[in-house]
Amino acid sequence: MLDQGGKQMEHPLAKYLRPGTVPSTFCPGCGCGMVLNALLRAVDHLKLDPVDMVMVTGIGCSSWIPSPMFRCDTLHTTHGRAVAFATGVKLMMPGKRVLIVAGDGDLSGIGGNHLIHAAHRNIDIGVMMVNNRIYGMTGGQCSPTTPMDMFSTTTPYGNLDPPMTVSELLASAGANYVARWTTYHVRQLSRSMEELMEGEGFRFLEIISQCPTHFGKDARRSPVEVLDQYRDESVPFSETKEAYDGSLGAKLPVGVLADRKRHGYIRRLEAVEGKIREDAAEAGR
Ligand code: SF4
Ligand code: MG
Repeated sequence: MLDQGGKQMEHPLAKYLRPGTVPSTFCPGCGCGMVLNALLRAVDHLKLDPVDMVMVTGIGCSSWIPSPMFRCDTLHTTHGRAVAFATGVKLMMPGKRVLIVAGDGDLSGIGGNHLIHAAHRNIDIGVMMVNNRIYGMTGGQCSPTTPMDMFSTTTPYGNLDPPMTVSELLASAGANYVARWTTYHVRQLSRSMEELMEGEGFRFLEIISQCPTHFGKDARRSPVEVLDQYRDESVPFSETKEAYDGSLGAKLPVGVLADRKRHGYIRRLEAVEGKIREDAAEAGR
């Protein structure tokens, strides 16, 4: 990056990147770079100290966003297990901000039950799911969010299954905060990440993102065309009347779907621990 005098200057967000991670491993036009940018802007705007953060990832292209790129403590875990690891980290270090970035296949497919029950228990972690509607890094297999009839490497005759609508599922499971944006909505995305980083209980942000390498190979469109589509198909939750079914071409409701202020798991656990200590003191133990 050059200043007005043509001198090399450091990007203001570069201080958050681990040395040697740029250029990244992302394909040209991938949404993961845009998500990384929004994430670093949110951290910078809140003036968070990365030392107070732990980022947990699963396996997949989006898991490379914090690990290795973001300069904080990161835990790069096994496929589908990011929520389980993050839960353990939060229970042992409740003072840390514990956040996950992972993909649709990792979180809603392989790790689906961990995800639903973390929302149900309102565990105090923030989860950013980069939903490119395909298993990207492992070769373009159909994921739970792949639209019906879509061709992929594992559905050569088209996907038989309707897609999961993960935000709607987690809002009904009990998550305190649920929002959905696309990579077209970069400012809203960053603001939602701030809410996710600051909140209590289980917070979930679904980020509809482009995978120009694997998604829709049979009718490939440029990343710009995909962003145009995100812009044209998005509609605020408040203006939608019909339930979203995840299909391509349907209006995509975006914004904040749930924003509750219930106590998170850690606070409830601490209350029980306090009672146990009181009981033990009363019993003279
Ligand atoms: Fe991005 Fe898809 Fe390439 Fe992975 S395979 S880096 S999701 S474009
Ligand atoms: Mg994916």
